[in-house]
Amino acid sequence: MQVLLWRYFAIFTILVITVVAIVCFGILSSAYSTQARERISTIGTGLTLFVDGKTSGFTGEVGGEMNRYAFTEGVDIVLLTIDGASLIYTNEPSDDWQSVFGELNSSINGWTERKALIYSSESMLNYVSCITFNNQQCYLLVRYPMFIMMESVRSMQLYIVIIAVVAIVIAFIISYILAQRISRPIRDISGTAMRMAKGDYSVQFASAEFEEIAQLSESLNYAKDEIKKSDDFQKELLANVSHDLRTPLTMIKAYASMVKEISGDDPVKREKHLQVIIDEADRLTGLVNDILNASKVSAGLSELNKKVFNLTEFLYGIMNKFDYLQETSGYKFFVDIDPNLYTLADEEKIYQVIYNLISNAVNYTGEDKCVYVSLKDCPEEGRIKFAVRDTGKGISEEEKEHIWDRYYRSKDAHARPVKGTGLGLNIVKIILQAHSFDFGVNSKIGEGSTFYVDFPEVSSTPAN
Ligand code: ADP
Repeated sequence: MQVLLWRYFAIFTILVITVVAIVCFGILSSAYSTQARERISTIGTGLTLFVDGKTSGFTGEVGGEMNRYAFTEGVDIVLLTIDGASLIYTNEPSDDWQSVFGELNSSINGWTERKALIYSSESMLNYVSCITFNNQQCYLLVRYPMFIMMESVRSMQLYIVIIAVVAIVIAFIISYILAQRISRPIRDISGTAMRMAKGDYSVQFASAEFEEIAQLSESLNYAKDEIKKSDDFQKELLANVSHDLRTPLTMIKAYASMVKEISGDDPVKREKHLQVIIDEADRLTGLVNDILNASKVSAGLSELNKKVFNLTEFLYGIMNKFDYLQETSGYKFFVDIDPNLYTLADEEKIYQVIYNLISNAVNYTGEDKCVYVSLKDCPEEGRIKFAVRDTGKGISEEEKEHIWDRYYRSKDAHARPVKGTGLGLNIVKIILQAHSFDFGVNSKIGEGSTFYVDFPEVSSTPAN
């Protein structure tokens, strides 16, 4: 890229400089020739006025004036008869008078009336005027050697070429520096991206002085952070899942061995041990189902199968499932459920939502092991408000943004006796979003959390 940029910059500047140089060349020669014509015409007009009508008595004065011009202006001046005989001249011509006259004659085509003409011969720019001197028609010829003009033009042109070459060299250097400054940050970014691709998320995309590249760096840093988060989540999930799978498996194996070797003949013990095996197998099934469900739900594989059902009875049914916790682990459920509320939703999926939310309340509630479940009718809003409250340590504002993410689990999740996969709330979110139901969490640190879902209220018999 750097070479390409450099090449383009260089070609562009060479083109510009060449065009400017060519234009300067043209302007310079035409400006010089115009200037020379003006000069020669001024000299010629001045001399014509001075010499015209003079008699031979003024020959000395005329010669003096002609010499003065010749000296100061670098021109040759000659006064010729119309037959070509030179009367007065300032310099012997390099060729003979005859050829000068021949050139003059072919240019003026033999005119004798008073006029003036500028013409150029091989190496001279000539001004000729027809005047009267010593009572006879004469030609006053002012000759300006072109080589003087050409020399100035040439030296100016040489300067232009030198300046152009220097400018091109400078342009080459500047374009090299520029190309490097543009391409270096891009090269750096691509190097950093390669390191990131190899799994190093500690890399930082450096900012650059060009706004667009700085923006690109910023976006890549953002993308990197997001990828890192997702990678961390996945790693954590793998760690959690393998940990969670291993625990029930170890228990199943341990209790199966116990049944085989110790309690096989004792029906009471055997019964107890077999129950542990069944419970742990159930836990395993639940865990695997959670993982499968999350990927299925988020992949959009499962369609919604909406129908009207009695939410009140449905909720009581779910609460019954938690009864065993009340009996075995000292949990206290406070239930406030309005009777006969109907909603329209996918029953099976709503089961997952409510079950997950109550499970979380059980898992995260405080030492008092209290969980409050309510289902309230709000006819004026046409809604049924479901809420489940716990007395746990609550969820911080920062954490609130993440709890609905896939695989998110709070850092101290492993410290709790009941472990989850970090998928539960993600499943809840996907299902409720698919239904377009309002849901969320209100929580205060130290006071517990309330998760809520607003269901639409419908009459018990669906309208046909
Ligand atoms: P998990 O299997 O870890 O419970 P969830 O997706 O159900 O996964 O929850 C994600 C995270 O949200 C939990 O790890 C926890 O940090 C937080 N969380 C969920 N419910 C509660 C709650 N009732 N009280 C406090 N924190 C909660």
